[in-house]
Amino acid sequence: MKYSTYRDARQALDKGETNCETLVSSFFKEIETANEELNIFISSDEEDALSRAREIDQMRAQGADLPLAGMVMGIKDVICIKGKPVTCGSRILKGFNSLFSATAIDRLYEAGALFIGKTNCDEFAMGSSNENSAFGPVKNPVNPEYVPGGSSGGSAAAVAAGMCHASLGSDTGGSVRQPAAFCGVVGLKPTYGRVSRYGLVAYASSFDCIGPLGHSVGDVADILQVIAGEDPNDSTSSTVPVSTYREALTGSVEGLRIGLPKEYYAEGLDGEIGEMLDKQVKELQRQGATIKEVSLPNTEYGVATYYILATAEASSNLARYDGIRYGYRTDVDAVRASVKEREGRLTEEVNALRKAGDTAQVEVLEKEIRLLPSLLEEVYATTRSEGFGDEVKQRILLGTYVLSAGYYDAYYGKAQRARALIRRDFEEVFNDVDVLLTPATPTPGFKIGSRVEDPLAMYLEDIYTVNANLAGIPGLVVPIGNHSIGLPVGMQLLSRHFDESVLLRVGDAVMNNQNI
Ligand code: GLN
Repeated sequence: MKYSTYRDARQALDKGETNCETLVSSFFKEIETANEELNIFISSDEEDALSRAREIDQMRAQGADLPLAGMVMGIKDVICIKGKPVTCGSRILKGFNSLFSATAIDRLYEAGALFIGKTNCDEFAMGSSNENSAFGPVKNPVNPEYVPGGSSGGSAAAVAAGMCHASLGSDTGGSVRQPAAFCGVVGLKPTYGRVSRYGLVAYASSFDCIGPLGHSVGDVADILQVIAGEDPNDSTSSTVPVSTYREALTGSVEGLRIGLPKEYYAEGLDGEIGEMLDKQVKELQRQGATIKEVSLPNTEYGVATYYILATAEASSNLARYDGIRYGYRTDVDAVRASVKEREGRLTEEVNALRKAGDTAQVEVLEKEIRLLPSLLEEVYATTRSEGFGDEVKQRILLGTYVLSAGYYDAYYGKAQRARALIRRDFEEVFNDVDVLLTPATPTPGFKIGSRVEDPLAMYLEDIYTVNANLAGIPGLVVPIGNHSIGLPVGMQLLSRHFDESVLLRVGDAVMNNQNI
């Protein structure tokens, strides 16, 4: 038998009712049954997971007390596990195996967690629906006609489909929280720097965070406990001491000041989601929390600011995929042949012009020949054209544009200033309240294919999540029930830097209270 939360499984393990090997096999059975349809796992190594499970069983038999012994996890395929493929949902990393493990992975491994496979995601974590993966879209396990959200869609769906206890995703603009909302699971984006980014393939380095997803707030808290903390391999990881997160789950919200930012309840929010949130707010109030309407006046600039800064950083980070250092390389012989063919053609033309005595044209053409890209440059360009998908190319173009000399001040510089204002809004509001309670997404999940033609609608999907990344603050999404279209709805909680504890406390109280 499988246990939905890790906590339950752990109790069964501790009572000797099951062992790690059995847990891993039962999840693999689930994957065998449903993965073909849902397209959640891109790669997995059953033998490896089973052999580590047996090792953990043995260590436990000898008395080892590992905090996450037997926690079966799916890992978003932007996070490196040494010796295993890492694709980032892209063709460009085809055939590349990680040379080292992410710090979060090393810590989880030491804690006894078992990695069951790598989960599908939007290419380089760019997207909100998991439709941008070179491996095809992930389907929402609640209703396979719908997207699971993105970009950590595979990680959220894996938990929702019962293919693992918990998973790791990454959140640059909402990619843990939004799929958590669409799939009805818990997802945490920690404070920027709380969890080392070492071994997380970079999308937008000043935003990227690794975050856990699970069935319960407690499971997510236990994962955070293990992966949080300073890392000498990531100079942006924080030295702020790590709290004891389990202790935060008191079940009480008595005396907490909860803010409702009015900009998050404005036009564009699905009416039913608004009502569901309202119910939660009333319940929290009944339990002794103080509710206050607050304002974050620069909220409306979030999405534009994010898409300027994130694409700028992405255009630089993705420059390294050149066909030489990593993964996919175009057919070099074919490129060489086409370069030769072109050179031959132009030389013939020059010769013909020379014969005809057209020296002016000869000069023009010779200059053109000198400026032609070299074989190496052609290999870079062709590899990138073939290896990257459309969304990634669009973002590299956009990012290169906003960083170009002529437009830097107008776009990148201005966006940096807007980012500072958004951050200040949060700092000010957290003088008055402990937590902000907001919708996670404007609508529940949408149908696969329904928004691919409209990137702006897709980008607006992130309207409630990106500002936390711009400010670097933590955010937690917990499920609060089902919409009338039958899909889950999530609620977002935000707090000041490094106060994950208060999020976990409120999130846990909300989840204990789902019968209201
Ligand atoms: N949907 C956002 C984007 O496409 C966020 C992605 C993320 O958090 N990785 O950039």
